[in-house]
Parts: sequence; C-alpha cells; structure tokens
Amino acid sequence: MAVKQDYYEILGVARDATDEEIKRAFRRLAFQYHPDHNHDSGAADRFKEINEAYECLSTPEKRASYDRYGHAGNNGDFGQDFDNFNFGGFGDIFDTFFGAANARSQTKARRGEDLRCDIAITLEEAAFGCEKEIEVERTEACELCRGTGCKPGSQPSRCPTCEGAGYVRRVQQNIFGRFVNMVTCGRCGGEGKVITDPCEKCRGTGRQKRLRNIVVEISPGIADGAHVRLSGEGGAGDRGGQAGDLYITFAVLPHELFTREGDDVLYELPVNFAQSALGDHVEVPTLEGAAKLKIPAGSQTGSIFRLKNKGIPHLHKGGRGDQLVKLKVVTPESLTDEQRKLLKALSESFSRPKKGAKPPA
Ligand SMILES: [Zn+2]
Ligand SMILES: [Zn+2]
Repeated sequence: MAVKQDYYEILGVARDATDEEIKRAFRRLAFQYHPDHNHDSGAADRFKEINEAYECLSTPEKRASYDRYGHAGNNGDFGQDFDNFNFGGFGDIFDTFFGAANARSQTKARRGEDLRCDIAITLEEAAFGCEKEIEVERTEACELCRGTGCKPGSQPSRCPTCEGAGYVRRVQQNIFGRFVNMVTCGRCGGEGKVITDPCEKCRGTGRQKRLRNIVVEISPGIADGAHVRLSGEGGAGDRGGQAGDLYITFAVLPHELFTREGDDVLYELPVNFAQSALGDHVEVPTLEGAAKLKIPAGSQTGSIFRLKNKGIPHLHKGGRGDQLVKLKVVTPESLTDEQRKLLKALSESFSRPKKGAKPPA
C-alpha cells in the first residue's frame, strides 16, 4: 500500500490552519481538480484525496485524532478501497464510502454496561473472609423471547424501507455536484429486519431489568477500599455483544477495639500505675478470643508488645500479621480512703531525699 500523503500538505495549509483557511483551501482545490472540468489523468485521484483530507480536517474530533495519531488515528475509516472506487462522472463521490462505513458501524454488537457496587464488611469478616449476598439490578436478555424481541414462534421480517440492507441512499445536491450518502435506515436502525410481532414481555426490546442476587466470596485479608471485578456479571450485551462486568468495592467498617495497620492489628490496653510499675499478667482481646500477655515491671505508657500471628492473614499468601498491644497508663479519677493513704505513703517514699543528699533550698 502506498504511503499516504499528509492531509495538511494535500490542502496546502499549515498545521495550525483555522477552519476557515481549511475550508477556503478545499474549495479552491476542489474546483481545480473536479473531474467534471479537469480531464488530466490523476485529477480524479487528486480530487478524492482532497475530499478525504477535508473530511478529516473539517471534523474537530477527526482532526484531533489525526493530529495525534496520523492516518492510523482514523481507524481505517479512510483510504481503504479507494483504488477500486469508481467515479460515476459528476456523480457519487467517496462520500458513499464514508456513509456506508458509518451505517455499518452502527449495527455492531454492543457490550453490556459495567455495574458498580459497594459492600461494607466488619474487620473480622475482612480478616477471615466470608460470603456476602448482594442484590444487583441489571439488564438481562428477556426470558420469554430469549432476547430476540419477537413473540415466541414468530420471526423478524425484512425491513420494507431499506429492503434488508440496513442503510438507505440519501442524495444531496450542491455546487460540486450530486453527493450520495449511505445513512443508517431509520426504520430498522441498521438491522435490516423489523419485528412485526413483538414479544409481550419486553415489548420487542429483547431486554428486561432484573434484580439478581449474587454471592460474593471475600478472601481472607482483603483491605479496605479493595476492588474486585466479577467478569460477565454486569448488564447483558446487545446484538450478541458480551455482558459487562460487575465491579465491587469493599469498605471495612471501624472496629470498637482494634485499629488495622496493614496486616497488623493495634489494640490499646489501659493499665494502672501499679501494674506498669510492678508488672502483671493480663488477658487481652484479639480477633479470635482472649490471649495472655505479660507486662514487665517498669513498663512505660506507650510501650508496645507484640502478639505474634494474632493479626490479619496476608491476602492470597500464607502467614498473617501480628497484634500490637500498646500500653496506656491510666490515672485513677477517684480513690478510696485506703488507696489515698497508700498513695500518700508511696508519694512520701518517692520524695524522701536519699542518704547524704542535701535537702532542697
Ligand atoms: Zn421478550
Ligand atoms: Zn431498514
């Protein structure tokens, strides 16, 4: 296939030419090369190129695409079959080709719509996995007519407007001559067939909205905000197109005791001054029941102790995180007489000067 000439060069305009400049250049060249009054060999080919360049550069989306991707950006809509195209004198120009290409593209199979859904789960469910049933409203093929849109037992008939072609010719007359466009048939929407006896359930659309319960399996260790795609669980496709997908986003609810840090779980343990000073053996809650923890004597508030493998399982891997226990020394807000007496004695013992030290001035 020959290398295609740049559209801007064909029209002899700069790449930043305005729409008006492009239009003026096209008019001038189209007159010059119009096969009706230019009988030079190659004039007809030139005229086709000029039209092709103008068709692209005068359509903002096509021009933007051409500027970015060159001829490849136009997706084969241009150029193909040009060599075989036959000029009918002052008649049908390549617009016929464009029109037919557009008409064809409208009858393509359409993929079903993608759907979105959010699921809230507890920290325990995120940690150990679970199954959740969700209700999704989606488009499905009509169960009565199986998506055909025809009353069971009947068949679609040939469209009388386009006689089954799916497109119709529309003739336009302007200063350059007669232009024939192929446009999608309005009666059958390009299908070439019409439903004369529509299905009663879907009224001929072949589709229906349905509520579906879908069971979602949640893997142990899933993170807050994680997405899962359930392939083919979205809306049904049209004209044989494949079904869309269902995208699920998980939100892990806050827990009253634990904070998640990656696959570790943080728990704040309140203790009194005596426990932190003297040490203690205590029980702390974990995601799976209570566990024993030894607090060493002389522990400070904010100290962190690690309970190995008591955290959240690593997603799709072996092993799991830890539980971190953070000590928080709590000062009592009220005391019994006995406790006050004991604390006073303790306080005096702390403030008593050591042997040999000078009393404060
Ligand atoms: Zn139906
Ligand atoms: Zn039709």
